[in-house]
Amino acid sequence: MRDFLGHEGLAFDRTHIWHPYTSLKDPMPVYPVASARGVRLILADGRELIDGMSSWWAAIHGYNHPVLNRAIQDQLEKMSHVMFGGLTHGPAIELARLLISLAPEPLDKIFFCDSGSVSVEAAIKMALQYWQALGRPEKHRLLTVRSGYHGDTFGAMSVCDPVGGMHDRFAGILSKQYFADAPTPGFYDDWEENHIQGFKKLIETHHDELAAVILEPLVQGAGGMRFYHPDYLRRVRELTAEQNVLLILDEIATGFGRSGSLFACKRAGVVPDIMCLGKALTGGYMTLAAVLTTGAVSEGIGSDGEGVFMHGPTYMANPLACAVAVSSIGLLLSMPWRERIAEIEAALRQGLAPCRGLKGINDVRVLGAIGVVEMEKPVHMRRMQARFVDEGVWLRPFGKLVYTMPPYVISPEDLEQLTRAMVRVVREEARDAE
Ligand SMILES: *Cc1c(COP(=O)(O)O)cnc(C)c1O
Repeated sequence: MRDFLGHEGLAFDRTHIWHPYTSLKDPMPVYPVASARGVRLILADGRELIDGMSSWWAAIHGYNHPVLNRAIQDQLEKMSHVMFGGLTHGPAIELARLLISLAPEPLDKIFFCDSGSVSVEAAIKMALQYWQALGRPEKHRLLTVRSGYHGDTFGAMSVCDPVGGMHDRFAGILSKQYFADAPTPGFYDDWEENHIQGFKKLIETHHDELAAVILEPLVQGAGGMRFYHPDYLRRVRELTAEQNVLLILDEIATGFGRSGSLFACKRAGVVPDIMCLGKALTGGYMTLAAVLTTGAVSEGIGSDGEGVFMHGPTYMANPLACAVAVSSIGLLLSMPWRERIAEIEAALRQGLAPCRGLKGINDVRVLGAIGVVEMEKPVHMRRMQARFVDEGVWLRPFGKLVYTMPPYVISPEDLEQLTRAMVRVVREEARDAE
């Protein structure tokens, strides 16, 4: 077989292939992965890296898992794909039943799509179509909070953090939405009612034009890796209900146990009107996302003329993806995931503690299987990335954030190596920044 990961292949990659958020003019180095198994990425030169990223929240069971491999192989022998228009299949029905049984009641209607961003588009469209059908087309804006991240498509971009996101670049093109300050206080801090005042004022002022509020529950991911207080979410739920505004919760990063409960909204005891799932849904095997909603929303949408929901991706409910999702959720539920995540949380807390109070470090925070070290200044990404690879771990810092969300199957020894590398490299970075 031709070796695409040699010098020539990498040169081609540099010249022709965009990686996420990179320049083709002066790209950062990329590391060639030959294979992956368990929590290890195996590079082309044979080096092994302990994965601290779960390929962006997704690979919760690690890589090349025999049970997940088998699920895909079994499905492959039946069919890899058929269109979902006018046809249905077992994997879609089985996955829908499973997701509905796990999601908070009464979220029992489901729309499958191909990526997290698209699920956010579909969720927004559901909210808009709902109010159109009810004769309230002027309710077409969204309210969200700063420091959020909901994806890279246009609807999703319009509700990403206006500073960290792409609002300047696409000003005049993106829909204008309303933004409350980033939610406070932190997850473990004391709640006081004044933390919701800014949000409350916005929803009370603008409810007549608001279709929905959209939030990431408890954990703001790519917009800043912030953990906020469950009472904030509870108050948002109460206020949206009072003001007749739908609530969309984006559980794409938090879903499937990451924050310590199966869904972060459950931890706060909050039920949204619309919920987005993605990322870990297939255990990191394939791209798949889902939007769940209530009978009330689906009936609302259905009450308008033909009552159709106007969305339908080509690869909707792809059978391979649905089959591996069923298998991944089965694996998760068959393991003591709560205990596992509590152990990872304790190990992260202990392992990252030496970073606390260091000069150049703003904050160290842990929630569920997520550990974050926030620096005072943006890190030197190229240098830091290379240092982590030297240390035998795969971590990908961005901005001021050095963080990990490891696969749930990581061993205590590997997790210790991961946090030790974080402490060491962050210390060097803090010292060099002086
Ligand atoms: C990753 C992410 C998305 C976007 O999902 P894609 O599959 O990358 O399109 C949306 N919302 C949140 C909270 C995410 O973490």
